[in-house]
Amino acid sequence: MRCFQSPLRFHSVVAIRLLCGLCFASAVLGASAKPAPAPLFTVADLDVGESATLKLHDGSQATVKLLDLKETRDSIRDAVRQAAVTVEVNGKSTHLVSSTYRLPVTFAGVQIDCPVTKGYVQKSSKENAWGLTKDARIRLWPAGSPWMEPGTFVYPAKQCWFATDTQMANVPVFVDGGEVPANKNIYYHYGLDFGGAEGLVDVVAAADGLVVSSGLEKLPGYDDSPVTPRYDVIYVLDERGWFYRYSHLYKIEDFVKPGQRVRMGQKIGILGKEGGSGGWSHLHFDITCRQPSGLWGILNGYAFIWEAYQRQYHPEIIAVARPHHLTWVGDTVELDASRSWSREGDIAKFEWTFCDGTSATGTRVRRTYEEPGEYNEILKVTDASGDIDYDFAVVQVIDRNHPNQVPPTIHAAYYPTFDLKPGDEITFKVRSFRTTEGSEVLDFGDGSPKVTVQSDGNANEHDPNGYAVTTHRYKAPGQYIATVRRSNERGHEAITHLQVIVTPR
Ligand SMILES: [Zn+2]
Repeated sequence: MRCFQSPLRFHSVVAIRLLCGLCFASAVLGASAKPAPAPLFTVADLDVGESATLKLHDGSQATVKLLDLKETRDSIRDAVRQAAVTVEVNGKSTHLVSSTYRLPVTFAGVQIDCPVTKGYVQKSSKENAWGLTKDARIRLWPAGSPWMEPGTFVYPAKQCWFATDTQMANVPVFVDGGEVPANKNIYYHYGLDFGGAEGLVDVVAAADGLVVSSGLEKLPGYDDSPVTPRYDVIYVLDERGWFYRYSHLYKIEDFVKPGQRVRMGQKIGILGKEGGSGGWSHLHFDITCRQPSGLWGILNGYAFIWEAYQRQYHPEIIAVARPHHLTWVGDTVELDASRSWSREGDIAKFEWTFCDGTSATGTRVRRTYEEPGEYNEILKVTDASGDIDYDFAVVQVIDRNHPNQVPPTIHAAYYPTFDLKPGDEITFKVRSFRTTEGSEVLDFGDGSPKVTVQSDGNANEHDPNGYAVTTHRYKAPGQYIATVRRSNERGHEAITHLQVIVTPR
């Protein structure tokens, strides 16, 4: 991926902006003469054996039938790690894996994805966030259609793709040490978490809309809505009738008040770790709308942020080694790079470098771990033109004989992530979880001396000094891998990596 910032291209979505606040609200509710932009997809919630004929955005029709659902759970927490559906579309059948860094696929004259299945709403600590009462949710777009109407949606954080940890749709939360064997109630992360450096990353409005709540203030008249105000949260209602939540904000911009309108791309706050963040600094972003069940439910936005990032920043190549893994010592884990993407179509090379110093090639590789810890395996992808990108597969390994002795986890982030030049000062922020022993050791990956710092180990999740902070300047252009490590009192280590791209002046 190339982390260059190119100017946002604002297409004309002016009609709605010209309306006054009251008219805006009625436009959102569909009462105005101005047609509001419609979603480009059609949704169906289906039980196994059920079919539906759907009218697509372009007026065409498609018939979809849910043939089968297979949910695979891990042996540690009994959490769904993969949900696969078999669907028949216009008479042809195919398999789809639900969410967890998957994008819509083209099949049988449509594009299709499966945002959620029923296992993700059972034993969920967030109840039925998806508003799903059947076996699976299916979305269909016409073949060749964009996923979100161009000019109506942007990437909500001003930072590089996968700049640090993420928790995208339906992965159990893990960055803050949430994967605890004793806890069988799973927080499947329904929204999109963008890790980032606390207090430094701008959060922008993903779409035009009306601020319904900001901090503890809320507009009257939205009792039947997903809006639940909190001091660190903004809710914005867009012209599609979707509610956007921006959460854990370090700061909310002063103008963002209930009744105000925000423009797509406008700065509305700064990324932080407030509220129920678990102590790791990130933007929690989600979209809620009415679902086929009649309930409010999450709209899986991963495809939309992927598409928005592509439109705004034009990456050539993106490595994807996510989601993370949770395993017992001695069990086998399969790392999977198949979701990596190249503008040219094919990835020429998949190379892995492991924490134990060994390496491998291939789209999928199998590993076992002999010691508990948090591992972070390096994936390097290269296309035929020589474009390179890195991503990192997090593997949390637990000793089945001591399931309560959980190893530490670690979150690291840096800022800025775009347009870095030799000599620029870069701020690194690191914090460990599940241990207050030891210190974080940073290796910037350029041969410079290692730096030792000590975070609070998440002793107090909202501590403004909870992250340890250091700065570094790279002397020469390069695609660097920085490493951060910290061990607990048992010698179990957490390791993480960051990709830092420094381009010539
Ligand atoms: Zn979140």
